[in-house]
Amino acid sequence: MVKKKEDFTKEKEIFLEHIQKAGLRRTAQRDLIMEIFLKTEDHLTSEDLYWLVQKHDPSVGHTTVYRTLKLLTEAGLAREVRFGDNKTYYEHHYNHEHHDHMICTECGKVIEFFSQAIESMQDEMADKLGFHPTHHSLRIWGVCEECQKSEVTHSAPSGAQPKVRMRSMTGI
Ligand SMILES: [Zn+2]
Ligand SMILES: [Zn+2]
Ligand SMILES: [Zn+2]
Repeated sequence: MVKKKEDFTKEKEIFLEHIQKAGLRRTAQRDLIMEIFLKTEDHLTSEDLYWLVQKHDPSVGHTTVYRTLKLLTEAGLAREVRFGDNKTYYEHHYNHEHHDHMICTECGKVIEFFSQAIESMQDEMADKLGFHPTHHSLRIWGVCEECQKSEVTHSAPSGAQPKVRMRSMTGI
């Protein structure tokens, strides 16, 4: 979780506009949920966010958190992602470049990556098949570096390491 020294003015503007369009009122609880979501650079379930919000205001309920996440998604500030555990995770979407995910099946860590080579190959393949791609989500499951070290049963895969640019997303 990286806390950025930002006030998220633009994001807040977008959210308020969306709330007004949806015919909803601005509430202190929604503001708090949005604030905590924007400050948390991570992949969160509604439940995760609920517990973070609880620390600030125990009166906020599960449903309010869930609905606010939906509003954030509709407004284009959040994006839903799934990592194969039947949960819906939310991550920042606004001003965030496209990226894909590697998921550690041992500890659940999610690593974000971007590879122009992989992106281009996907486009080429779609082109070959006459397919017009609108969006995609590439997920690779496996065992992260730390878990490989801590478990003797997992031998590190040899050879071909993809040449990807690893990074934790911090926006543009
Ligand atoms: Zn991609
Ligand atoms: Zn791991
Ligand atoms: Zn991500």
